[in-house]
Amino acid sequence: MKTIFSGIQPSGTLTLGNYLGALKHFVDLQNDYNCYFCVVDEHAITVPQDRLQLRENIRSLAALYIASGIDVSKSTLFIQSEVPEHTQLGWMLQCVSYIGELERMTQFKDKSQGGKEGVTSGLLTYPPLMAADILLYKTDIVPVGEDQKQHLELTRNLAQRFNNKYNDIFTVPEVSIPKVGARIMSLQEPTNKMSKSDANQKAFISMLDDEKKILKKVKSAVTDSEGVVKYDKENKPGVANLLTIYSICSGISVEDLEEKYQNTGYGVFKEDVAQAVIATLKPIQERYDQLIQSDELDDMLDQGANHASFQANKMLKKAKKAMGLGRVR
Ligand code: ATP
Ligand code: MG
Repeated sequence: MKTIFSGIQPSGTLTLGNYLGALKHFVDLQNDYNCYFCVVDEHAITVPQDRLQLRENIRSLAALYIASGIDVSKSTLFIQSEVPEHTQLGWMLQCVSYIGELERMTQFKDKSQGGKEGVTSGLLTYPPLMAADILLYKTDIVPVGEDQKQHLELTRNLAQRFNNKYNDIFTVPEVSIPKVGARIMSLQEPTNKMSKSDANQKAFISMLDDEKKILKKVKSAVTDSEGVVKYDKENKPGVANLLTIYSICSGISVEDLEEKYQNTGYGVFKEDVAQAVIATLKPIQERYDQLIQSDELDDMLDQGANHASFQANKMLKKAKKAMGLGRVR
């Protein structure tokens, strides 16, 4: 059975983009693959975080994985900082990475736009930690949204470089990007991707938003003045994004939706988009409410960390041996 690894940062409440682009696919994958799902809290601290908020986000993210359908009897769900092998291998891979290639990462460029003085070095060296996350578990496939493609390419390069330079121990992973939903866009600036860490709350739908909020956010989503419901990503990015969201949430094809709304304005269309989103998120929210304060969740996460650590340690030992760290025992 092939192995899948995927991580999500607890940098805010998950968005509909995270769900449609990532989580939703994970649920199907866990039947056919050996899956590792990780709350990558050490990635989240590359940018400033409030201590209590971070703790809350970590737990909330773990509960959302389960509420969305991740089954811990099939998959390993754990918190990155509870498995110290990640930072250990992350450091070793930093020593295999070049500053130049890290500086070329578009996410680093985007998130450090305010100038390099106020940006942590962790933001620059985050990709080797991500590579460690993946390589520790002999991962074959990494299912991600389009935004992570470049980091995945770097992971592959680092694995190959390590294998050539030291010893051939790492599996070089493949990236898998969903055909639809890989890039859900911001509701306010539909040419940017929807992000949970966006400062503008109106730009994203959180997986925990209530009905009223969802309706309000969809209604105030930026579209255009044409009034025609048509999928045209170039010229009508806002409408195209709503069509994508509606289509995935309802299971109705974009073409059928275009036909259904050809004579209505955006008002009716948006109302229905919102209802489809509400129907998708409601059962998840109900399960989430049962889980969030439960001991059951802690038990699941303990079990996940134990299993992950056991596996990760085996690979870490190999990597240390390959690099000549520590003693011969
Ligand atoms: P942040 O703004 O903190 O980076 P994020 O919303 O980009 O948050 P990540 O934790 O970086 O979320 O990514 C989690 C997963 O969700 C990844 O697999 C990523 O590819 C996917 N993803 C993130 N944003 C989108 C989006 N807008 N559409 C589809 N998939 C997405
Ligand atoms: Mg991101």
